[in-house]
Amino acid sequence: KFLKMALRHRTDSIAKYEEALSEVMDKIALSYEDLNAIKEKVKGDVKAKLEKDQSGVGRMLNSYVAKIPNGSEKGEYIVLDFGGRFFRVVYVRLNQANSADADFSVAPKGSGTKLGNDEAVFMESKIYPLRKNQTKGSEELFKLIAKSCADFCSRFRLEENPIDIVLVNSFPCRHESINKATLIRWNKGLHPSDGIGLDVSELLQNAISDAGLPHKVVAIVNDTVACLFTGVSEEVNTKLGLIIGTGFNLSFLRTEEQTQAVNAEMGSFGDDGELDEYLTSFDKDIVNAGYMPNPGKQVIEKLVSGTYLPEIFRIMVKHFVDEGLMFNGVSSDQIDRVGGIPGSFLPQIIRAGTQGLNHVQDVLINIDLCGMYADAEACLSIAKMLTHRAAGLVAACLAGIIEVSNYSKHSINICVDGSFYKSHPLLASSIQEMTQELLDGHEVTFRTSYDGSAKGAAFLAAANVAANQ
Ligand code: BGC
Ligand code: MG
Repeated sequence: KFLKMALRHRTDSIAKYEEALSEVMDKIALSYEDLNAIKEKVKGDVKAKLEKDQSGVGRMLNSYVAKIPNGSEKGEYIVLDFGGRFFRVVYVRLNQANSADADFSVAPKGSGTKLGNDEAVFMESKIYPLRKNQTKGSEELFKLIAKSCADFCSRFRLEENPIDIVLVNSFPCRHESINKATLIRWNKGLHPSDGIGLDVSELLQNAISDAGLPHKVVAIVNDTVACLFTGVSEEVNTKLGLIIGTGFNLSFLRTEEQTQAVNAEMGSFGDDGELDEYLTSFDKDIVNAGYMPNPGKQVIEKLVSGTYLPEIFRIMVKHFVDEGLMFNGVSSDQIDRVGGIPGSFLPQIIRAGTQGLNHVQDVLINIDLCGMYADAEACLSIAKMLTHRAAGLVAACLAGIIEVSNYSKHSINICVDGSFYKSHPLLASSIQEMTQELLDGHEVTFRTSYDGSAKGAAFLAAANVAANQ
């Protein structure tokens, strides 16, 4: 009898839960009409921001990259790829340019790459950590970057002769030229106390010189622009670069009288209320949360990228647990703690879902949630609907930009990078499908960038810097 009562209670609460969840689900699920409407908003926004003088706006930023490399460029570069969580130094040699005194025999065997059909590109790279407590002020931050660069250079004997440096950054910057840019906003949890409005290349150049290196900073590019040009170097129809990782953004080539690479800074779309009607109370909580970067800002980024989706998942599950509707009302440390769900969780649970609910339960145990199949199924469907929405929003942005750009070629290639995109079993295919559905007139292909941003950064510097000087 007791068991029967318990089961009845359980069934009631599942029904209640299903009701509660389906309400949220309806709001989160964006219909084709919703996505089309968002695409139109994106088009209006892109047009307006491209027409307006750049000084006031934080989107559609000119990169001052006007020449498309043709693949025959030569040169030798040190690319500093400054993301948010870590920092990568890359040596790139294009088409056997004369290398100074570089000595890669000191590198362990097997390192360095000759890339695919692009035999003539040689790269060597090393990752350095960036700890938040080491980056209190921007000067300290750039000092740390220069120190890592110096370490890399001494390993490979690159400290004697000057080599051009290209900085790939993952923060919005307003450019005056290819190598003069001021920072608009920090993000991704990296928040030095200053830096906004400062000249990034000057900060870096000073730090590099102070570290005793003879190298010169010749270009600063956004990571999505570098990604775009990595794509261009591999597939000539590439017109867009997309990154979905810790953050979200895209860039594109625009051809008016002259070619121009535009950093869309798409992650801040929604900051003027454009997406308000689609937000659930959970989304609003995360968008505005004081404990996350840029409260109230970077709205679409917070609905799309790997930093924020696990947080939305967490507070949704926490809500249903606290209401006694999931996991018998028993929460876990990870669910209760801000940032308790790692970025790898959503890809994991969705992958497990293809294998069966047992596997989903196993993934949930990793975050100390012990549940029945119904709980596992609920978590899986929350993860899936957050994924589908993210994919739809990205697709609306891509389709909007492609339509505004009015490319004459029928086939458009998009080069994509970012940890979340690459590790997620469902995100890429959903984005691809939905982008095609939202477009009429163009066919899109997607190409994942496995070579990172350095190759594109080197090619674009080789094609553009000499021309500018
Ligand atoms: C930044 C962009 C960057 C993107 C991807 C966003 O948070 O604002 O500049 O391209 O993340 O890293
Ligand atoms: Mg809806």
